[in-house]
Amino acid sequence: MTDQARADQAPAAAQPLDLEFVVHLYPDPVLRRRAREVPIDDETRAVVKAMFTRMVKSDGCGLAAPQVGLDRRILVLNPTGKPEDDLALVNPTIKERKGGDTLMDEGCLSFPRMYAEIKRPERCVVEYLDLDGVKHEREFDGFVARIIQHEYDHLEGVLLVDRMTPVDKSRNRAGLEALVDKWKRTQGR
Ligand SMILES: [Zn+2]
Repeated sequence: MTDQARADQAPAAAQPLDLEFVVHLYPDPVLRRRAREVPIDDETRAVVKAMFTRMVKSDGCGLAAPQVGLDRRILVLNPTGKPEDDLALVNPTIKERKGGDTLMDEGCLSFPRMYAEIKRPERCVVEYLDLDGVKHEREFDGFVARIIQHEYDHLEGVLLVDRMTPVDKSRNRAGLEALVDKWKRTQGR
């Protein structure tokens, strides 16, 4: 039996994960699912590596697994673009949000070329696992805290459009409608 024949007979769930990730765009329903916790294993490590590759290729500073079609509680980020600042959070929980609200323009790879001024607390305390399965509890502030809170929203199925002010929503209306039309066309195929 050839490898191909075995692959053809294997049930869908046994197929190896395709790590050539593409970014899923609004309003793909995968972006609305609450993501599930994952084990720390070789597959999770491979997913994290492939997510960093996708994030860099897309010029992003953060990426959550639902954006690459996986309902898994994994997020990757890099606030500076320097390799030593890569940070992967597995099964993260935001334990506390602290400090005053700050406003910052946010973009999202699932909403290409759209920006909105979003209000979020300045700091957050996050519990997460690293890729060796070690549990951390760390406080983040500034831009990193901003990225983490944005990406964490993705794990809960919350999107940029949900946090837009009415003004930003109407300013981005044409772009949002274009994404919905595009998604409907791909569904019709
Ligand atoms: Zn996003």
